Amino acid sequence: MLKPSSFQPSSYEPTPANGLVAYFSMEIAIDPQMPTYSGGLGMLAGDTLRSAADLNTPMVAFSLVHRKGYFRQMLDADGKQTEDSQPWRVEEFCVEETPRVTVALENRVVALRAWRYDVVGRSGHLLPIYLLDADLPENSEWDRGLTDHLYGGDANYRLQQEVLLGMGGVRMAHALGLPVNVYHMNEGHAALLTLALLEAQTGGGPLGQVTETDIEAVRRKCVFTTHTPVPAGHDRFSMEQARRILGAERAARLEALGGCHEGLLNMTYVALRFSRYCNGVALKHGEVSQAMFPEYRVDSITNGVHGPTWVSRPFAELLDRRMESWRRDHLYLRNAIALPVDELTEAHAQVKEALLAEVAARTGLVLNPKVLTLGFARRAATYKRADLLFHDPERLLRIAQSGGGLQILYAGKAHPQDEPGKALIHSVIEKAKQYSGADLRVVYLENYDWRLGAALTAGVDVWVNTPRRPYEASGTSGMKAALNGVPSLSILDGWWIEGCVEGVTGWAIEDGADDEAEAESLYQKLETAVVPAYADSERWARLMQTTIALNGSFFNTNRMVKQYIRNAYYPLQLLAAQPVAEMVSAE
Ligand SMILES: *Cc1c(COP(=O)(O)O)cnc(C)c1O
Repeated sequence: MLKPSSFQPSSYEPTPANGLVAYFSMEIAIDPQMPTYSGGLGMLAGDTLRSAADLNTPMVAFSLVHRKGYFRQMLDADGKQTEDSQPWRVEEFCVEETPRVTVALENRVVALRAWRYDVVGRSGHLLPIYLLDADLPENSEWDRGLTDHLYGGDANYRLQQEVLLGMGGVRMAHALGLPVNVYHMNEGHAALLTLALLEAQTGGGPLGQVTETDIEAVRRKCVFTTHTPVPAGHDRFSMEQARRILGAERAARLEALGGCHEGLLNMTYVALRFSRYCNGVALKHGEVSQAMFPEYRVDSITNGVHGPTWVSRPFAELLDRRMESWRRDHLYLRNAIALPVDELTEAHAQVKEALLAEVAARTGLVLNPKVLTLGFARRAATYKRADLLFHDPERLLRIAQSGGGLQILYAGKAHPQDEPGKALIHSVIEKAKQYSGADLRVVYLENYDWRLGAALTAGVDVWVNTPRRPYEASGTSGMKAALNGVPSLSILDGWWIEGCVEGVTGWAIEDGADDEAEAESLYQKLETAVVPAYADSERWARLMQTTIALNGSFFNTNRMVKQYIRNAYYPLQLLAAQPVAEMVSAE
């Protein structure tokens, strides 16, 4: 079997001058008013495309329209989550394209159209996102609903969505006349695009006659990013479903070519098998993924966030005033070590006040802008341990009492079918009720989304993250905080292994054998490092300088997109001045 590492540079032709990168993602956070994302994966996709547009990258993107969104979260007084759908009007945001394509599913034919949304880069470059839509009169009622719910329905629904995204997307790119030379699968949901490419390669002929040359031709075009070290996070389907939905021949082919694992069709294996380059989303995650898939070479490109999207207005004004070139090139953020201390303090005070006003408007609770305020907002998955701060509530209370008070802002949705996740929210809200008082105030805010995420990451004093190692692939919310001078207090996992400089960009919760030990380190760091630093406003402003300088300048998608271009999309372009043949012989 050919592996990505066997890729031959001499057979590589694509360049940014003769084609486009097509970025495929099941979710993309495009606009705060479009509910086309659920969380980190979609935010990363949106930030990637915004940076790619800013960098004038020849790129397009494909996703599904998700007419009913992900879900709006409601929490009752007891902390019980209920959900509502989020219908939105696609025609208010996007333009309908003319071509129609069809995809075969379960012996039916589903027609698709595409809605275009243009991301506009800072110098006017347009990067079109095509949202595939099955809501057409020629489709059956069931099929019309296939592009309604992001991560909705059961496994049958999801596999059908993945066929529409992957195979429908490739056909739509073709129908639109887009000269795609690189297909980037952002997570395994889009892996079936490789099947469409393989079928195009064989001219639609029987897949039984696929040769290694055909496979190599597909692999030359494909790159894949894996996003989770949690085995259950990798998309898997039964062979019965695969045969029924894809058809027996395609299912058998995928199996014969290595797309199955432990008797299941595994989208990560499909994507790995047909990609010439594959990566994890932080250095550690690359290593963990490499160990999970030893037969493939797994590189790493650490995630980032889109600066102009996540820098709050007061900080953007400060940066524009003091070092305007940051917008052109985020490496200039390194100069944040020279930002005036009083201006930083003032900018943060403004953002914090705006956040606390938002909290008051939502909950009626008036918090104190002078009091140390921690933020914890993320998907309520159990491995993220939202309740670790409450491991020993009495201890937390004592820290609040002796340290001049403590405020903690929580937010996060549990997937509608994730009962343990819902129980976690309930437990945090119960403890919040039990222990909140004059010294400790804890609030769980409803419906964590783009806007609330921006307000929280910029407006709290410290961003807290407590995942169980090594399950946090990267995490990006702490990067948003860093761009606003907000240090992190986190477990050394994901991006924080790279981003933590103790006492300079935040603090590490030290690795422990169990929850008990890690909670102990969390309390100790709060007590002995965070609270004393917060009490000294000059020292805190220095911390803000170094947080922006060291982490804002690196953990952004401008740097990340450049790394994808160099390492994944067009790895030979750096050597463009040198003939390829010469370069190969020189190796
Ligand atoms: C940034 C963001 C995320 C991802 O953050 P993590 O650190 O990976 O949890 C999720 N949801 C929203 C709304 C965000 O803004």
